[in-house]
Amino acid sequence: MSVRVRFAPSPTGSLHLGSALTALANRLFARRHGGTLLLRIDDTDTERSGPGMEAGILRDLGWLGIAWDEGPLRQSDRFDRYREAAAAARGVEIRDGACWLRAPGQAPFVILRGDGRATYNWATAVDDHDERITDVIRGNDHLSNTPLQEAAVRAIGGEPPRYLHHAVITGDAGKLSKRDGAASIADLRIEGYPPEAVVNYLGLIATSGPGDVLTLDGLVERFDERRLARGTVKVDPGRLRALSTRHLAALPADDLVTRVLDRCPPGTPADAVRALEPALRGVHTLAEAVELVECVLVAPDREPLPELAAIRARYPERLDEGGARALVDELRRAEVPLRRARRALTGRDRGPELWAVFAALPRDEAIRRAA
Ligand code: GLU
Repeated sequence: MSVRVRFAPSPTGSLHLGSALTALANRLFARRHGGTLLLRIDDTDTERSGPGMEAGILRDLGWLGIAWDEGPLRQSDRFDRYREAAAAARGVEIRDGACWLRAPGQAPFVILRGDGRATYNWATAVDDHDERITDVIRGNDHLSNTPLQEAAVRAIGGEPPRYLHHAVITGDAGKLSKRDGAASIADLRIEGYPPEAVVNYLGLIATSGPGDVLTLDGLVERFDERRLARGTVKVDPGRLRALSTRHLAALPADDLVTRVLDRCPPGTPADAVRALEPALRGVHTLAEAVELVECVLVAPDREPLPELAAIRARYPERLDEGGARALVDELRRAEVPLRRARRALTGRDRGPELWAVFAALPRDEAIRRAA
């Protein structure tokens, strides 16, 4: 029997990191086993779902490069089927105006509400059965639903799929919050993380074990459902940033320049960005790349640092990464405060690696700012 899995998000705007992990784990599993991934929108909760919400999910999956083979199907198109399944199922009783399922070993639970709409557990079980899903991979926040869904599939005469649960992702404060800078895929996109790095990061979380910079193909190779991450995984912004830097540094020059230009204000000269290409290889995110472009094009308020100007004068007009790193080493040896060097050159306390700032600024411009 060929493998069939599904990703079944509820349509709530942008995907959270945890849902993206579920989507990716299913994609990797399906590829690994030559199976099919179905996209299903779990929109039984019609008050809270809307077309805009679904569009957000499709956009996020597209941005991440997580493709599906069938769908999207929508639960809201199947309310009749859920009622028909309830009418034919074993162990169904009507109580207090709702339909309940009484299944062996389970406390009775509602499958159709008073208005005839299916509950999440019923709709999911009927769909997984009808769609011949073989394996359900989802976060362990669904552990308590699993026995109910197994019972529901049996009540309609089916054999339940295999259920596998992966870790949920949390932030510093326990729950993943916006302050972690990593609450949703949309946040990461806006912050300028390349999708390759986000997929790499989530793919490494999906299964435990060694792994480093990998593409989707590499992650498929590495994926092993027996090593699905368990419990909770705390988001590690440092690791994500490190992967982001390395994926950006590995992009073909034209691709990197295009991605940066797309985020620059309209009218930014493409030549200026192209000239910065070597320096762009030191940025952590595309947002930082834009900052680097801005800081080259717009001189900051003056905060002179004459020692810096003197040392810079001894190096060539244009620096590659090696030359720029050597210059930073010399500043360090000469005990020139690097934070002040950054402020003199960019007017900011944080930003791209200092070597990248030197690689971006021609000598005379750097001297003008520091002198
Ligand atoms: N729609 C549910 C959610 O987004 C997932 C359903 C499932 O995977 O069974 O949490």
